[in-house]
Amino acid sequence: MRDDISTTHDAIIVGSGPGGASVAKELAGQGRRILMLERGDNAPIKGSLFQVATNAGIPGQSLLFTNLSLLAMVRGLCTGGSSIFYCATAFDPPYAMLEGYGIDLRREVQELKAEIPIAPAEERLMGPGARLMMQSARQLGYPWHKLNKFIYQDKCRPDCSLCSYGCPHGAKWTARNYVEQAVDQGMTLVNGARVTRILFEGDKAVGVRYRKNLQRHDVFAKRIVVAAGGVGSPKILRRSGLDRAGYDFFFDPLIMVFGTVDGLQSKGEIQMSAGVHMQSRGYLMVDLNFPTPIYLGQSLPKLRLDKAFSQSNTLMMMIKIKDELGGHTTAWGGVRKSLRAEDQAKLKDGYTHAARILKNAGAKGIFSGWTVAAHPGGTVKIREMLDSNLKTEKQNLYVCDCSVIPEAWGLPPTLTLLALGKRLGRHLSGQMQ
Ligand SMILES: Cc1cc2nc3c(=O)[nH]c(=O)nc-3n(C[C@H](O)[C@H](O)[C@H](O)COP(=O)(O)OP(=O)(O)OC[C@H]3O[C@@H](n4cnc5c(N)ncnc54)[C@H](O)[C@@H]3O)c2cc1C
Repeated sequence: MRDDISTTHDAIIVGSGPGGASVAKELAGQGRRILMLERGDNAPIKGSLFQVATNAGIPGQSLLFTNLSLLAMVRGLCTGGSSIFYCATAFDPPYAMLEGYGIDLRREVQELKAEIPIAPAEERLMGPGARLMMQSARQLGYPWHKLNKFIYQDKCRPDCSLCSYGCPHGAKWTARNYVEQAVDQGMTLVNGARVTRILFEGDKAVGVRYRKNLQRHDVFAKRIVVAAGGVGSPKILRRSGLDRAGYDFFFDPLIMVFGTVDGLQSKGEIQMSAGVHMQSRGYLMVDLNFPTPIYLGQSLPKLRLDKAFSQSNTLMMMIKIKDELGGHTTAWGGVRKSLRAEDQAKLKDGYTHAARILKNAGAKGIFSGWTVAAHPGGTVKIREMLDSNLKTEKQNLYVCDCSVIPEAWGLPPTLTLLALGKRLGRHLSGQMQ
């Protein structure tokens, strides 16, 4: 089915996570006619377990498992992508690394910091567990500090750790905010639209094919931006004949380290309020307080039944490592990757430091949860498959999401993706003058 509306669009953007939303907001703001296709739904964010389970917990769709180690990897499939369920911590981009690829994001980051809320959490929002960990880490000499958060702090509540369910208070800034602004400026958003492939005329991308409600649609535009995420984008590109997509990726594996402290009373805490990047050791250490079901999911399968009822006096720390590039995503959107010995060593080293900090804070019964992952990227790398304007070898076909990051980096990438999206939006708009 060839959609009539399609011929009127300047660009089609596939996916509404931070990468796609940022391009969309920039282009719509310049008066361009944009069609955004998003495979997930656009249901209001409720902060419920049901919502996180349906949008980020469906095995084989949003909850992917590696083949050998059954390491779980989460991604959000709905308007806003994974940012709906992210912990809203903003790290500056790896400027030096990207400059080596001809990309300077300083101007875009400066503008983003003026446009959206990015600041450390106010004192009143920092929970008792996070304070205790910060105090203990500093006593031991770690440069533990507050982290920048994508949060409207006047709406944020202490004693709440629902960031990872999708914030029900409207306090967390997500990519959906940008999508909504773009829609207000005339963008067409189609949900439940799963893009299957890019359409070409010779070497020129002219449109995309998607399925919605069991029907096939072909839509056309002058520019195509694939922003379906680190796993979604290589799947679409491979099906469209760009066979090199999906290899040698990173996914920032992490473990949680827990320890109980007598007398600690934590009802729930804002996530990732403070921590330290142990750059030379290759990992990040932060406080990360989970809602009860996620806490139980981490502790019970490790047979820590004794911990099931002690969440309110449990300190929770996350160790997230920069993993070695490797593995591949499959043509069906699966992930194939094993942790290397170097990765295991970083996790072990991180555990040792976390345990030291927790012990110094008075914690007992220290243990770690499952290894999981949450930032798949590097599957469509700049220079290998894209030029510095994020264009593929095909005319009019661009990629803008976590896939494009050319090297393992190990830090949460959202601010980088927003800046890349802004830069690409500006570049495309300039081409369309
Ligand atoms: C639990 C968790 C916590 C995190 N915490 C942080 C944090 O504190 N700070 C931070 O910076 N980062 C954090 N991240 C990572 C961050 O959320 C992601 O790196 C970021 O959202 C990736 O953006 P993206 O644009 O690459 O893709 P995504 O956010 O994955 O968005 C891709 C979109 O494309 C859609 N899509 C996929 N396939 C198709 C298709 N075929 N057709 C149409 N649409 C499709 C998806 O439904 C999705 O909406 C976290 C991630 C998770 C899961």
